[in-house]
Amino acid sequence: MDRSRHAVVLGASWAGLLAAHVVARHWGSVTLVERDVLPDGPEQRKGLPQARHVHVLWSGGARIVEGLLPGTIDRALAAGARKVGFHEDVVTLTSHGWQHRFPARQYVIMGGRPLLDWVLREQVLADERIDLRQRTEAVTLVGDGRRVSGVEVRAVDGGAREILDADLVIDATGRGSGLRRWLSALGLPPIEVDIVDAGIAYATREFVAPPGATAGFPAVNVAADHRVREPGRFGVVFPQEGGRWMVTLSCTRGGGLPTRAEDFLPYAQSLRDPLVARLIGSVEAITPVFVSHIGANRRLYPERLGRWPDGLLVLGDSLAAFNPIHGHGMSAAARAAAVLDGRLAGNDLGPGDAHDVQRAISESVDDPWIMAASRDLDFVDCRNRSTDPRLTEGAAVTQQFVDLIADKARCSRAVSDLVTDVVSMSAPQSELGSSDFLALMQQPDEGLAPLTGPPLTDEELALANLDRHHSEALRAGG
Ligand SMILES: Cc1cc2nc3c(=O)[nH]c(=O)nc-3n(C[C@H](O)[C@H](O)[C@H](O)COP(=O)(O)OP(=O)(O)OC[C@H]3O[C@@H](n4cnc5c(N)ncnc54)[C@H](O)[C@@H]3O)c2cc1C
Repeated sequence: MDRSRHAVVLGASWAGLLAAHVVARHWGSVTLVERDVLPDGPEQRKGLPQARHVHVLWSGGARIVEGLLPGTIDRALAAGARKVGFHEDVVTLTSHGWQHRFPARQYVIMGGRPLLDWVLREQVLADERIDLRQRTEAVTLVGDGRRVSGVEVRAVDGGAREILDADLVIDATGRGSGLRRWLSALGLPPIEVDIVDAGIAYATREFVAPPGATAGFPAVNVAADHRVREPGRFGVVFPQEGGRWMVTLSCTRGGGLPTRAEDFLPYAQSLRDPLVARLIGSVEAITPVFVSHIGANRRLYPERLGRWPDGLLVLGDSLAAFNPIHGHGMSAAARAAAVLDGRLAGNDLGPGDAHDVQRAISESVDDPWIMAASRDLDFVDCRNRSTDPRLTEGAAVTQQFVDLIADKARCSRAVSDLVTDVVSMSAPQSELGSSDFLALMQQPDEGLAPLTGPPLTDEELALANLDRHHSEALRAGG
């Protein structure tokens, strides 16, 4: 390991922070370049507009973060985030019906995104080998098609330009990354890109939770049924730190997202089940409605370029961004950081090595990519500009199989467990094609009847000021 080597990481959000941390473990110093000013606490900032909306960190990603930065998850929990067991602590209407609340097999860390980022920032930036340059914007790469030797940056205030030399530049600037443009300027052919765009949009509002219906109250999730061939409509109520409920209503293209406060409740009433509307019907809203139209699945294929410059890597949303409904972006960034960590151990990135490392990073995002992109194809008016054969000629067969699994998982604990392992990014998606899993799918149901309504206990109903009879009457249209 050559401790005199220096890296520049572009973007100090989830992916950039983790990347800076792993490079600093192996190399002498890292400059972390960020356009924003990073707040000292769990606060919103301009460069992270998605932080207005619900965020979960799946257990697969949480374990990686904890392995890289021990104590991070406990700090997040101490600051108010929650560990929510799947499916024990979740009330979910899946595309195929209400999910039984089986004992928790996996979990999500649920908390405001500003809180999760702040905790990670505190952990990473405590490392003196990392020098944070705020209000500094990456403008272009320096070097040529064979080797990137640095990056040109500009001060956001005043516009002064400067070149930062580097043995390695890592692009973690998110969905708006200029990487494709920057590489063209170095004379490289365009990186291929796949886009699967169901037109996902989010509208989020926060409410004061009823007393007691925060930490122990289940997360509620009402999903669309793609089989009805209408735009998908979704709604979630996630209890958050500070005694709040964060409520996100979302839709696919044409779903009529509520953008005004007065449209929020009627939209919630239009979901497949009125539970979200019932929950928020009598609680006080404490924010306006925040809207985001960022939700297409988009993946770059740097590994397909015949030539990749030494001294350059890309990860996080810059490399692959997913429909956020699946909650995979932060876990995918953590996976990529873990791959980088493994590759940098004992490897100083000699000539030609960067392309290999990039290939490994790109492979690590394949599972979340195919999970999200293939599901979105199910929705009406989804725009598919992809070359991935699994999303073109192979898509229909996959969708049929996924529907069978979704149907079986509602009432079969064994199937639900394995699906939860995969969805939480704790097991590879290939497990769902294993002979063991196929055998499970053939087994008769475990005797549990399908649920006809949300599996809330009497105590939970009371905490949320709902009564079971009224809920049932509403569902029946009464
Ligand atoms: C609505 C929504 C909900 C989501 N929900 C979830 C969820 O529940 N779970 C989950 O795991 N993921 C979720 N995601 C995805 C998640 O937000 C991202 O995957 C995650 O933030 C990691 O992204 P990143 O660090 O690569 O990029 P970003 O978080 O987008 O950060 C990019 C950073 O780069 C900076 N920057 C940009 N350009 C420049 C430049 N030229 N120079 C210097 N700095 C620059 C920005 O200021 C920012 O700090 C959601 C996304 C959206 C849109």
